[in-house]
Amino acid sequence: MPIQYHEPVYRPPSEGRSILLQVTIGCSHNLCTYCDMYRSKKYTVRNIEDVEDDLIKLSKFYNSSSIIPEKIFFCDGDALAAPFDYLMKCLELTFKYFPFIKRIGTYATAMNILEKSDNELKQLSQAGMGIAYLGMESGSDSVLKKIVKGNNAEDMVKASLKIKKAGFKLSTIVMIGVGGEELSDDHITGTARILSQCAPEYLSFLVTSPVVGTPMARMIERKIMTLPTEKQMLFEMKEILRLMDDELMNNIVFRANHVSNQIPLAGILPQDKNSLVKKLEYWFTQMPEERRGFRDGHM
Ligand code: SF4
Repeated sequence: MPIQYHEPVYRPPSEGRSILLQVTIGCSHNLCTYCDMYRSKKYTVRNIEDVEDDLIKLSKFYNSSSIIPEKIFFCDGDALAAPFDYLMKCLELTFKYFPFIKRIGTYATAMNILEKSDNELKQLSQAGMGIAYLGMESGSDSVLKKIVKGNNAEDMVKASLKIKKAGFKLSTIVMIGVGGEELSDDHITGTARILSQCAPEYLSFLVTSPVVGTPMARMIERKIMTLPTEKQMLFEMKEILRLMDDELMNNIVFRANHVSNQIPLAGILPQDKNSLVKKLEYWFTQMPEERRGFRDGHM
């Protein structure tokens, strides 16, 4: 790439072919117990001149190649936290240098969304911001508190409905096993309940794999929290899907095919719900009792 990134840089799997443009550095929250992605970075909104400089270099690079980029992803951890005027300027400059880009995406927290007005979100959407990836993780207040997510379940619902109303597509991420064995039942019922209410366009399940050095990994080492076995994780997935309300779902594109998931799953909800649940029931019977995941990489 022709630009210098402030490493490390992360993006959702579905943005694998997108141009990555850092409009913020780090994460404005940076406290979630399982996450080490931006702990080495201080949250910063970049200078707009530096963002434009990156866009100029990127557009020269793509103009001299045969690749026609279709999507741009605004990094880092929650670009939507940046001030509204700054984001509007970033969008304007993006279309100045990439006039044919079809979609711009960003990670967002519920807090980011709730802190913007309806009108600001609508203007961002109309200016080309097309999709927000919301790390909901859980619909249980007890779990959200335990993982220091910074928002409760009600915030998650309000933020999801708000950003959809503004015209964004919503992609929601749930972390299977994130409440530990201790809060597994709460995690299942709370998550199924609020996912039904939020009805995102895209939904993905990630399996919790604590990263060495994070607060969550230390809690597990000190036996304050118990990581569910892989069998229990399958049970959580199955039950969340099973309990989601068919009446409230409308063509949700569901994926659980991240590298963290042992068994890749994909389908449309609610149409494919029963076959996904059956598949999970089958794998549940095949899975040995005690396997637990733990690794030293990144989530
Ligand atoms: S999970 Fe998301 S919101 Fe939480 S600290 Fe990591 S990047 Fe920030």
